Amino acid sequence: MSHDAPLAPATVTVSAGRPARTQGGPVNPPLVLSSTFVSQGVPAPGELLYGRIDADTWHPFEQVLGALEQSRHPALVFGSGMAAIAAALSLVPPGGRLVLPRHCYQVTLGYAADLSERQGVEVVLVDIDDTDAVLAALPGASMLWVESPTNPMLEVADLPVLVEAAHAAGALVGVDNTFATPLVQRPLAWGADVVVHSVTKYLAGHSDVVLGAALADDDALHARLHAYRTLHGSIAGPFEVWLALRGVRTLALRVERAQANAAELARRLSSHPAVLAVRHPSLPDDPGHERASRLMDGFGAIIGLRPRGGAAAADAVIAALRLWVPATSLGGVESSLERRRRFATESLTVPDDLLRLSVGIEDVEDLWADLAAALDAL
Ligand SMILES: *Cc1c(COP(=O)(O)O)cnc(C)c1O
Repeated sequence: MSHDAPLAPATVTVSAGRPARTQGGPVNPPLVLSSTFVSQGVPAPGELLYGRIDADTWHPFEQVLGALEQSRHPALVFGSGMAAIAAALSLVPPGGRLVLPRHCYQVTLGYAADLSERQGVEVVLVDIDDTDAVLAALPGASMLWVESPTNPMLEVADLPVLVEAAHAAGALVGVDNTFATPLVQRPLAWGADVVVHSVTKYLAGHSDVVLGAALADDDALHARLHAYRTLHGSIAGPFEVWLALRGVRTLALRVERAQANAAELARRLSSHPAVLAVRHPSLPDDPGHERASRLMDGFGAIIGLRPRGGAAAADAVIAALRLWVPATSLGGVESSLERRRRFATESLTVPDDLLRLSVGIEDVEDLWADLAAALDAL
């Protein structure tokens, strides 16, 4: 074993972004609450000046996420996942063509609609798991946006094929890697140009912070994302980033446990008589199974569940649960769920009886007992 061997991701989550080792020094980086930094004269490159431009409390988390995504640069934290997505989509020029999944985060779809209205961006919606349909939409595109697995339909994209085709068509590729986390999928390694995260979800992991991040390997793209953040002021507070660093230290354990729970629950759900359909890429007959097995280092911890009896039955399941939390969002330690079509803004091709389950790290038997009791009562 060489001391220079690359560290495994689970080790990186724990060991990256630590202060230099000095006798009596802290093991954790300090939380610095300061809007401005002592400075006079012409600032040196990289010198800390003002909290909208750069803050030292951001750096440890940015280093950890940059290392996990195997990026040439540290990540850039943003005030929310949407702020990071807005920065990435700013790479689409006015009048450009943006290809994005029909089923993706609904506010991303809303932002694309806004770009179409205000800047004449041509928005083309595709089924991201239908590779031929995506390839057909690429000529003339400025950017291909990918979510995989998709929110909330759990479709799995053939990422390396899409990246290659998009680049051949002269389009940038942006990937929202929130669902997979960098432990399961590293889009930059497949050649994607920009990766974004809702850090709010798995990376922070405790449902106590709203935060985002964006990454790019290319120097010019990284500089543009950084400039966007400064110009728009879409920054994060130091405390939020400090919480995210605390959360990311346990990412590997949380994701491992949540994925194992999700696979077991998906397996049991698929043979429950009150269940019409289950989607989880771990299931051997799931349409995304083959791709996920080939391209991902896991199957994620989100389940799509359609109980028999339509939207009313889905709502009844939610109402009958005691342990699972009825709430939007996902990726926390606690298991939660919601019926996505309760939002009028959700894509109409999402079935109105679809429950999106975010499986947490509780004991799987307790999660199953609660779920089975709610389904049995239908
Ligand atoms: C939640 C979410 C977002 C938005 O992130 P915020 O931190 O809420 O702004 C974007 N993409 C996906 C896949 C999400 O789940």
